[in-house]
Amino acid sequence: MSTAFIGLGAMGYPMARHLAAQEDTLVWNRTFARAEAHEAEYGSEARPLTELAQADIIFSCLPTSTEVWEVLRALDGYLMPDTVWVDCTSGHPAEAPRQAAWLKERGVAWLDAPVSGGVAGAEAGTLTVMVGGDAAALERVRPRLAFAGKTVHVGGVGAGFAVKAVNNTLLAVNLWAAGEGLAALKAAGVDLSAALDVINASSGRSNATENLIGQRVLTREFPATFALGLLAKDVGIGLDLVATHKGSAPLLGQTAGLYRAAERMVGAAEDHTAALKLIEQMNDVELT
Ligand code: NDP
Repeated sequence: MSTAFIGLGAMGYPMARHLAAQEDTLVWNRTFARAEAHEAEYGSEARPLTELAQADIIFSCLPTSTEVWEVLRALDGYLMPDTVWVDCTSGHPAEAPRQAAWLKERGVAWLDAPVSGGVAGAEAGTLTVMVGGDAAALERVRPRLAFAGKTVHVGGVGAGFAVKAVNNTLLAVNLWAAGEGLAALKAAGVDLSAALDVINASSGRSNATENLIGQRVLTREFPATFALGLLAKDVGIGLDLVATHKGSAPLLGQTAGLYRAAERMVGAAEDHTAALKLIEQMNDVELT
């Protein structure tokens, strides 16, 4: 019995470390030097992609469902029956049933299992995992989710991706709204640290005001642990979900447009909190 991990990015690298501490873990990364570094650092085994099909649980953590399709197709003919594929990508709920059906034809079970908690949560092994798919497959996998602090079965195939998209859309709304509010306070001459001190003891608080803005924006550090382009992608998925069900969500629509603009004007590879630099330009203030 061994596990496999595909995609050693900002999240995958520390997630796979917890797996390797618990059991034999095969790893692959497109830039293969990163897999070799993981082997040297954490005792995992860097292998060609096709060899990862030997594992009975295969994890993937890639930017979007498109890259997951690429690795699935590259593994066609190598996958073995009774494997469980656990996709920790923040993927698209419309792709999950297609990917699950494709895998089922090859005898492989599917779980969409995106995570939240950021790079810090991945390093600490305390990620929240939201799982869509077959409950029995999850029970097989659950003891081996070494990077998880909390695991919740949220429904059938695709439900994990849907919950993740809505969670991150809420993050985007809260972050943007806090940025606009703080820009107004800055223009009014209010000290922003004092303002955050009050907001965080009051009803306007959120993770954005309690953690992100104080640690990343006011310090001007904007450490790139979660790319702005990935958050814009997540908000787009949230909006697709609304459209699929013919919902009405004008606030989410505006949020998607704002993050697409920020991605272009500030830069997709910047940290997601750097979206507030666009609000700074719009208001001719600096959030310091
Ligand atoms: P990164 O950009 O840091 O890593 C992306 C990984 O995907 C790298 O290993 C990269 O390989 C690989 N990759 C990219 N394109 C391809 C491809 N065409 N074929 C094969 N491999 C590819 O992303 P994150 O780790 O930050 O994010 C991964 C997922 O997790 C995303 O869906 C994101 O939304 C989600 N997420 C991110 C969080 C965060 O805080 N960063 C928090 C929670 C979820 P290479 O090294 O060669 O570039």
